[in-house]
Amino acid sequence: MVEEGHWGIYKNIDNMPLERFDSFRTIINEFNTKVGHITQFSPIRSKRPFEHINEKVEIIHSPKDDSFCKVVEGILPAILLSKDSEKGEDALSINSAKTSLTNHIAISIVNLFTPMARVLYDNVQQITSIQDKSVGIGLVHLLTNHYDTLSEVPIPEVEKLLITTRLAQRNSISELRERYKTEKLTVLHFFNIGEEAGASICHLHSQTYIYANEIGHGWTSLGFLSVPGYHKKLKNNMNYCLACELSKGAEKIIDPIGQNILLKERKVFENDDWLVVTAFSPERDGQLRIFPKRHVSQFIDLDNKQIADLAEALVIANKALDNFIKGTSLSMHLLQDRNILFRQDNVGYDSGMHLIIDIIPIQRIGGAEIMETYRIASMFPEDVAAVMRESLKEIK
Ligand SMILES: [Zn+2]
Ligand SMILES: [Zn+2]
Repeated sequence: MVEEGHWGIYKNIDNMPLERFDSFRTIINEFNTKVGHITQFSPIRSKRPFEHINEKVEIIHSPKDDSFCKVVEGILPAILLSKDSEKGEDALSINSAKTSLTNHIAISIVNLFTPMARVLYDNVQQITSIQDKSVGIGLVHLLTNHYDTLSEVPIPEVEKLLITTRLAQRNSISELRERYKTEKLTVLHFFNIGEEAGASICHLHSQTYIYANEIGHGWTSLGFLSVPGYHKKLKNNMNYCLACELSKGAEKIIDPIGQNILLKERKVFENDDWLVVTAFSPERDGQLRIFPKRHVSQFIDLDNKQIADLAEALVIANKALDNFIKGTSLSMHLLQDRNILFRQDNVGYDSGMHLIIDIIPIQRIGGAEIMETYRIASMFPEDVAAVMRESLKEIK
């Protein structure tokens, strides 16, 4: 007697693995083949978790003696670009200072270890072509209070963090445009939360890399940037936007490549301006996606109401993910550490893409998944969302 699924032998059609494509970055090419991110679900690959909540992944709180705490106390110098909603130094400033910032909630500073040239000195101004140089600004946005995770921050403080981030990004973008006489800039905005997610300092912060040369995106960004135009062509409708369709709340939504994307089943939370869902084709188990209900392509274009509601959506989404991960079995290899990625249009591209915020937890994966934009998942996002919705009831 062969156990169901062993050696790929199935008796029940419901147990058979199936594939989903990420609607936002999948096209059907001229050979009628789908090209994009694939998640393969193998429901019986691991036992259903959530039978009990265990304490395996309690968050370890870091001591309040990191470099960011020292910047806030005025012990270490920083180039301060924004404090709450007030502009500080110019983005290309060389003026670092030690200043006590404890009477502010959130600040933006220049990244001490910026991975690109920010251009400080007169001789660099003489470079006529920046095409082959990595030129731009690395920003760090942080709260003056010390937290390890977004889930534990009061929502008004998250709002301040987003406001100061928007201000520093806007100023940096306009200064870089002027300095380099370029309309096109690549903006990478993200949180690394926890060491396994790449945070070198545990004090909660987000980062923005803004590239003034045009080398700042790869296949992943290219997918998100080019698929909106592909969808419009396919639907023969220049106003078509899949994410906008989601916020209309229709009973059933079929994406442009023909998948029923089960929106209702995947919904975790919503407020006036934002929709939080589990990703249809997740890159890691538990991945969440946050969409603005009104079409916006870039973070800097969010208005104050959208920012305030985003603060709430981010905190609740992170709590839902914490709860989900706490309840998973060890065999899922999910950690509380996570990345939050703001997938948005590049400045000056006008791709028509709809801002997407992905929250992706760290999970151990294997070779096939590293080789391709492909992953094998053990749990359907509809079931993940049900667990998350249930867990949010408890904390309210
Ligand atoms: Zn700190
Ligand atoms: Zn849209």
